[in-house]
Amino acid sequence: RAKHTGRGRVEVFDERLRAHIDERRDVEEALRHGLASGEVHVLYQPVLDVASGTLVGFEALARWDRPGAGLLSPDAFVPVAEQSDLICELDRWVLRSAVDQLGAWRIGAGQGAADGDVRVAVNLSARTLSDPRITDTVVSTLAFAGVPARCLVLEVAESAVVESPVLLTQLAALRAVGVSVALDDFGTGTTSIGALRHLPVDTLKVDGSFLSADPADQRLVALMVATAHASGLTVVAEGVERADVLDRLAADACDAAQGFHLSAPLPPVEAGRVFAAGVPVG
Ligand code: C2E
Ligand code: MG
Ligand code: MG
Ligand code: MG
Repeated sequence: RAKHTGRGRVEVFDERLRAHIDERRDVEEALRHGLASGEVHVLYQPVLDVASGTLVGFEALARWDRPGAGLLSPDAFVPVAEQSDLICELDRWVLRSAVDQLGAWRIGAGQGAADGDVRVAVNLSARTLSDPRITDTVVSTLAFAGVPARCLVLEVAESAVVESPVLLTQLAALRAVGVSVALDDFGTGTTSIGALRHLPVDTLKVDGSFLSADPADQRLVALMVATAHASGLTVVAEGVERADVLDRLAADACDAAQGFHLSAPLPPVEAGRVFAAGVPVG
């Protein structure tokens, strides 16, 4: 009887596990198809200079318009895509879209325009970054769109790269062709202060979870900004939701910021208006 119950539990567990695996496979298949058939879109969130309020760039953020499921956030499909090489396809697709888009905006504005330095930032997963061909892909994508390498930022999660010598080498190769690298979700990983100076990165993106009303968090943000600057890095704060947070970032000399208080991620047409104006519009 005891054995019977035991087996019953195993079967229930098996069924749940199988359902989970099936569901993941469904998502994967549907996303693979969706990528090929235009269901994946890119939104562009403006990144603004904290001191002047002017546009310094956009972060490209993937959205999946899955039939019957509505518009899905990356949290609903990136973790599944990361289980296989599908994430490389997704990342390359977003890279291509974002770089092409920036190229189109630049042409629309005239090449020598004052906004010639506006950048676009693209998120890369560890698996994408570990592909030895990634540097070639980036170089040819930029060349095809006529976008200078200095206008592309590649964002990688702090937790993904810091303990991986292979990924650090890849980042160094990417920086050698002129693109810049931002350490995303900074503060949630394990980077030591001393290591920062030697990492092949240009920018820290302070995770939004530190932008709270808690005085201890506020002191940490000030410390992260000072540490970044002491290490020769620039700082972007992400997830700025309130005016007082922005004021404190200005007081801390944080370089740039993004967040709902400044602008939500925008569809390409609206982002194009921001590109043309050099400041958030509407
Ligand atoms: P992330 O790179 O840290 O991007 C910032 C996230 O914060 C975005 O979420 C953005 O929409 C959201 N956000 C912007 N302003 C605010 C704010 O004021 N408050 C709060 N609470 N959140 C804000 P999103 O678009 O859902 O993306 C989530 C994550 O998915 C991204 O985090 C990034 O790690 C990943 N991701 C997005 N697109 C791609 C992609 O093309 N490839 C890969 N590998 N990952 C991607
Ligand atoms: Mg990011
Ligand atoms: Mg982040
Ligand atoms: Mg994040």
